[in-house]
Amino acid sequence: MAYRAIAIDGPAASGKSTVARRLAEQLGLTMVNSGAMYRAVTWEVLRREMDPGDTPEVLKLLRQVRWGCVIRDGATIMSVDGVEPAMSELKSDAVNASVSLIARIPEVRTLLVEKQREFLELGDLVMEGRDIGTVVFPSTPFKFYITASEEVRAARRAAEGAADAVSERDKQDSERKVAPLKVADDAVVIDTSELSIEQVLEQVKSKLNELGW
Ligand code: C5P
Repeated sequence: MAYRAIAIDGPAASGKSTVARRLAEQLGLTMVNSGAMYRAVTWEVLRREMDPGDTPEVLKLLRQVRWGCVIRDGATIMSVDGVEPAMSELKSDAVNASVSLIARIPEVRTLLVEKQREFLELGDLVMEGRDIGTVVFPSTPFKFYITASEEVRAARRAAEGAADAVSERDKQDSERKVAPLKVADDAVVIDTSELSIEQVLEQVKSKLNELGW
């Protein structure tokens, strides 16, 4: 039997990571955080003091480095020539500010999408990101788009102590040519602005039931 994927997309700080993680725990599924993979490439670009806007240089780096990706203890871990950046480094202000520049490069996306699809060989999974329902697993019937008002998202990020211009990142992610952030035609849209995490999970699970999960 082929394995199945639940796609969870949405803008930054919409609550999609929490929903994806809790859903994976409750249903006993592997959880893949695709954003961590784009962050790891960005981290390496910055570590080498390269300009993230210099696409030819980034393309050279893509070819030079051995990129690995594994799931360990529920975390998506990308290795760069065998080195694993810590989650705190991947969530730094510097990475937040540059990741959208790296994520708009088609070759970066091709490399990472291929790795994302390979995870489906391991078993049923939940994957969160921006293009999971539209590009990575377009044929899965289990697609959710998790969103929240701009005010709520900015407040959530501030509460985490992150200096992250989420609206600027979302603008860049939505306006890029390749695999922009958008709602898949057949996705279930859930606005989490006024909902608790439990309420969101209930909605997702009842929809999954309806869809025959
Ligand atoms: O999910 P997270 O906020 O960690 O993602 C960081 C960035 O990675 C996004 O702002 C976006 O530029 C990029 N990304 C992407 N496609 C995905 C996941 C993340 O372009 N599927």
